[in-house]
Amino acid sequence: GGPKNLVMTHGCEGSVLKAEEIHQNDPRQRLVILGSGWGAVSVIKQLDPKKFHVTVVSPTNYFLFTPLLPSATVGTLELRSLIEPIRRLLSRLGGYYLEGRAEDVDFENQLVEVSGIHDSEGRKFYVPYDKLIIAVGSEAMTHGVEGLEHCNFLKSIADARDIRRKVMENFEKASLPTTTEEERRQLLSFVICGGGPTGVEFAAELYDFLNEDLVGYFPAIPPEEVQVNIIQSAGHILNTYDLKISEMTERKFKRDNIGVVTNARVAKVNPKSVIYKEKATGKEFEIPFGVCLWSTGVGMTPLVKMLVSKLPTGSQSNIHAIETDAYMRVIGTPEGTVYAIGDCATIPQPHFVDKVMTILKEHDTNGDNLLSYDEFKTLALDIAAKHTVLKVFLGHLGNVFERYDKDHSGFLDLDEIRTFLTDAEKQCTALPATAQVANQQGDYVGKRINTLHEIEHAEAAAKFPPFKYTHKGSLAYIGGSDAVLDMGKGLVYGGIGSEYLWRSVYFSEQVSGRTRLLLFIDWSKRALFGRDISK
Ligand code: FAD
Ligand code: MG
Ligand code: MG
Ligand code: MG
Ligand code: MG
Repeated sequence: GGPKNLVMTHGCEGSVLKAEEIHQNDPRQRLVILGSGWGAVSVIKQLDPKKFHVTVVSPTNYFLFTPLLPSATVGTLELRSLIEPIRRLLSRLGGYYLEGRAEDVDFENQLVEVSGIHDSEGRKFYVPYDKLIIAVGSEAMTHGVEGLEHCNFLKSIADARDIRRKVMENFEKASLPTTTEEERRQLLSFVICGGGPTGVEFAAELYDFLNEDLVGYFPAIPPEEVQVNIIQSAGHILNTYDLKISEMTERKFKRDNIGVVTNARVAKVNPKSVIYKEKATGKEFEIPFGVCLWSTGVGMTPLVKMLVSKLPTGSQSNIHAIETDAYMRVIGTPEGTVYAIGDCATIPQPHFVDKVMTILKEHDTNGDNLLSYDEFKTLALDIAAKHTVLKVFLGHLGNVFERYDKDHSGFLDLDEIRTFLTDAEKQCTALPATAQVANQQGDYVGKRINTLHEIEHAEAAAKFPPFKYTHKGSLAYIGGSDAVLDMGKGLVYGGIGSEYLWRSVYFSEQVSGRTRLLLFIDWSKRALFGRDISK
């Protein structure tokens, strides 16, 4: 059926006919979720099985607990301990899973076009929906750098397995009597492009591995021949965290002999070396490597690029993600039918300050280039209506007006308006691509559709509050039993006990008792016997 006359299924076995029959006898809405990561699983955990017939489409038949993935690259944790089968998570809902990749969405006919992952003939089929949730995550950003095929990535189970194999292989090769010193130095050089949490945690895990296991197990390798270098384009590593955290981490890495190159851009990756440029001078440097990790931020997957390009012109303008309204509904799709959450989604940011003159003119009714309280009020209500996150910031308008009327003239002049708009804009900063955000957005959309269910007409929908993000802190493991936590609002923690705090946070966020047990076993095994250093 459908425009391309493909097989239709809701995830229940069988032909078009059978699927349609089942739908007729099933009053529940057909909810289709694309992806089985953080966002998708958070929705699944909220759903009311009585209200939805759920079908998940994803190329991976498991949920992956990404924050602990760096630990799997050197054998601190087993890969199996980080995953949870999606079918297990769906069983509570009596939901369906299809191992496939969404190739396209027909927003008008409400159909997702899917291809099976292991279907060598490339046959496609349609999955019809009443509601669709896009939670397909992101892809590594390439920044147009040449030679990334020589790099490793760290996003999936397969990536972690590749890194682990390569690390162990290099150590084994370096231990052979036929390997020259120069080759050894190349094999044992680890270069990490990108100083975000993933790069930093990978460096920390390598450091632990070198210190706890290398000396005992690889006596032929002089520890000083092992080199770890991080290349970061910003002025600090962990630059989205509090500055105190960045500095604490940089000091620790210095003590640990982990090289940190800041304000530098990778220009090219050769098969066995990285070329980077110092930003200030433009001078080029070369570092040989045995393993090079590429982890410099995330962008759109091919599916998301395609979907954004086919939405009505003018509705989408972000180059990194699908734009949604404050209720996580995709802008430009029929109301209430399509949501996007997590790394693949973003809520558009206002550009007040750029347009300060236009905004002033719009609200300055008497043309004196000043805003009276009444004129200011129409401006504030106007932006609060478009940017619901600003409702709290604009709570008591009288107080806000007084605060920004610095000279107590009773009017806001251009400078005062600019300060006000700058602060308002700051309240709307884009949310980072983190599990924490995807998880909260998933919870939100799950609750929202449970509540609104079939009645998502404008009136009912307007009563449901918009999504609001609560930052619960960022944390990163930095090696040698140290973790850093950024609790927001300038609170920072590191040092003794932080490792246990770090583990306990991830412990309590685990999706099931099963994975919790597996992790506990891995950590105990490592404490007792060291890492598994086989490939
Ligand atoms: P994902 O969790 O990536 O899920 C995307 C899903 O979509 C996957 O199941 C994928 O198979 C599927 N998919 C892809 N394409 C298609 C398609 N065409 N059709 C159907 N399905 C598709 N965040 C934190 O908050 N704290 C951390 O400590 C942290 N550490 C991290 C460490 C690493 C190594 C990595 C890689 C990430 C880390 N993150 C962390 C970020 C966090 O993992 C992401 O922000 C989060 O996974 C985003 O959730 P998501 O649901 O949007 O995407
Ligand atoms: Mg997901
Ligand atoms: Mg996002
Ligand atoms: Mg005026
Ligand atoms: Mg004034």
